[in-house]
Amino acid sequence: MMKNVLNTDLTGKVCVVTGAGGAICGMFAKTLARAGGKVAVLDLNEQAAQQVADEINAEGGIAKAYKANVLEKENLEAVHQQVLADLGPCDVLINGAGGNNPRATTDNEFHFEAKDIEGCKTFFDLDKSGVEFVFALNWLGTLLPTQVFAVDMIDRDGNILNIASMNAYTPLTKIPAYSGAKAAIVNFTEWLATYFAKSGIRVNAIAPGFFVGNQNRRLLFNEDGTPTARTAKILAGTPMGRFGELNELEGAVLFLLNNAAAGFITGVCIPIDGGYAAYSGV
Ligand code: NAD
Repeated sequence: MMKNVLNTDLTGKVCVVTGAGGAICGMFAKTLARAGGKVAVLDLNEQAAQQVADEINAEGGIAKAYKANVLEKENLEAVHQQVLADLGPCDVLINGAGGNNPRATTDNEFHFEAKDIEGCKTFFDLDKSGVEFVFALNWLGTLLPTQVFAVDMIDRDGNILNIASMNAYTPLTKIPAYSGAKAAIVNFTEWLATYFAKSGIRVNAIAPGFFVGNQNRRLLFNEDGTPTARTAKILAGTPMGRFGELNELEGAVLFLLNNAAAGFITGVCIPIDGGYAAYSGV
C-alpha cells in the first residue's frame, strides 16, 4: 500500500466521505484508508463510489460504497444505519460533495462585455433554479450529512472537514452562486466549530485553489486542450505560477484530522493555493 505524506493514524476509525466518487474526495477516501480508516465511500453516482471502494480494497484498505444523496435527509439516515451496521459509528466526516452549475454562471466577467452580444447569458438571465441548485448542493449538502453523521461523534474526539474554495474569500467572476455558497461553508465551519467545541468534535475546512477537476475542466481548457483566457488569468494570479496537483491537498487533511497534532485547532480554513489568496496581483 502507498504511504501517506504524514503518519496520521486513523486505525479503526470510521470515515464517511461524501462526493467520494469524485476527483478530490476519491483521493481523500484513499488517503484515509491508507491511514488505517474504515472508509464509507458515499456518492450520488453509485458506480463512481463503487470504483473508489474497489480500488481501496484492492490495495489492502477497508472501504464500502454507498449510493447517497447529500440533499435527501431520509436517504442519508438510511445510509447512516447501513454504515453503523457495516463499519460502526462515524469518527470522521468529510463533506466533499459540491460544485457549480452552468445555469448559475454568467457568460462574461463584466456586464459591459455582454450587453451587445445576442443570446449572451448575463446576470439578469441567471436561472433561479440553477442558483438554488448550487446553494443547496454546497451548503445544505454540507449541513444535512453533518446532522446525520455527527450524532455519532459527540464526546468521541470526532472530526468534520468541509471543502470551501478560493472563491470563499474573494468571489470569482461568472460564478456568483458557487462563490456565495462556498463563503457560507467557511462561515458554517466557524459556527459548527463553536457549537461542538465542548462536545469533542473539531470542525475545520480546506480551501483548495486551482486544481483541474471534472467540473471545472470546461472553464480551464478549450475543447482542443489549449488553455482558456481564464487559465492565463489564474496562473498570473498564482504566485507559484501553476495549477495545484491533487495530492498537494492531502497533507492539510491528514494534519487537521490528527487529534494529537491539531487537537487545539478548530474553526479554521486552510488555503492550499500556491499563494493565490495572499497575492494582490500587483
Ligand atoms: P467532482 O465533480 O470530481 O466530484 C464531486 C462528486 O460529488 C461527484 O462524484 C458527484 O457525483 C458527487 N455529487 C454531486 N452531487 C451529489 C449529491 N447530491 N449527493 C452526493 N454526491 C454528489 O469534483 P471535485 O473537483 O473533486 O470537487 C470536490 C469538492 O471540492 C467540491 O466541494 C468542490 O466544490 C470543491 N473544490 C474543487 C476545486 C477544484 O479545483 N476541483 C477547487 C475548490 C473546491
